Amino acid sequence: MASRPAEPPTYSLVIPIYNEEAVLPVLLHRLDRLLERLDGPAEVIIVDDGSRDAGSIVAAARAMSDPRYRYLALSRNFGHQIAITAGLDAAEGDAVVIMDADLQDPPEVVLELAAKWRDGFDVVYARRVTRQGESRFKRWTAAVFYRLLGKLTSVEIPANVGDFRLVDRKVLDAFRAMPERDRFVRGMFAWLGFSQTEIAFHREGRNAGRTKYNAAKMIRLALDGIVAFSDVPLRLALWAGMLVSFCALAYGSYVIWLAFHDTRLVSGWASTVVVISLLSGVNLLMTGITGLYVGRIHSEVKSRPLYVVGRTVNLDLATVPDRIPEAPRRPARRLAS
Ligand code: UDP
Ligand code: MG
Repeated sequence: MASRPAEPPTYSLVIPIYNEEAVLPVLLHRLDRLLERLDGPAEVIIVDDGSRDAGSIVAAARAMSDPRYRYLALSRNFGHQIAITAGLDAAEGDAVVIMDADLQDPPEVVLELAAKWRDGFDVVYARRVTRQGESRFKRWTAAVFYRLLGKLTSVEIPANVGDFRLVDRKVLDAFRAMPERDRFVRGMFAWLGFSQTEIAFHREGRNAGRTKYNAAKMIRLALDGIVAFSDVPLRLALWAGMLVSFCALAYGSYVIWLAFHDTRLVSGWASTVVVISLLSGVNLLMTGITGLYVGRIHSEVKSRPLYVVGRTVNLDLATVPDRIPEAPRRPARRLAS
């Protein structure tokens, strides 16, 4: 069993894997080379998000033989964003890097991130200037999503930036004090502020294997991003409701007027159907939007743990220093008499 290196790491690399057996050998090789070139000791935390392939064995074996690698397996597939969160909770470094396993986030770019951190920035994110190997549909939906998100939220969430980034310890501590269940990690870091900067990189195609983000997971992530950071959809319901009510009122007045002035008023089936279906459509839509928020409140109040750890190798979560600053206690206020 590998023992922990005596020195606390300067860098922590958090890498979620989900059925990534095809890329792992290349990834580990490129990581080895990166670790040699980094200007400080580093740990690599591989978070196994419920993989059902040989990736688990490969990653765990590496953590057994190489003290720089740690393996943290969740008890099932919790999803990319939660896997990242679990890795961040275990990270001990002064600077923490989040990256994908499929080499779409090239490990070498971490050197540039680290250089910016040395320059004094607290958050360094990597912007994709090109996106290779992604279907036109994915690029188009991503572009639409980032524009929509920019319009809907008051927090500035940079476009074309994924979760590939480096954050300083103090930002991470603040992040870990955010307890929300629906996690849109890149948005949460944007919300936190601190001194942020970016570097540009070329996003290559996936090195091997297939994307683990199917359409459903992509939509979920997009909805999480919007709902977690904006209440504009809720207000939209109000405006749409007002608009539709106004139209209904106007049309209703017209119909009443007709009733008094037109004797041929039996036909009217078409307009009735149109109005009813329009109204019920709008109604359902608005109920759905409300439901999105209510559903999230529901999952917040259940307050289950965000994830469950199945097994770890070369990582004792009990000894990971909990550096979350304690929330300042507010003095109890006396009730006004
Ligand atoms: N991933 C994960 N859990 C999931 C889906 C994905 O941990 O449920 C990991 C995956 O192994 C990869 C990263 O998240 O390291 C990004 O996933 P992927 O490359 O499939 O997404 P894409 O780049 O296609 O958006
Ligand atoms: Mg990918």
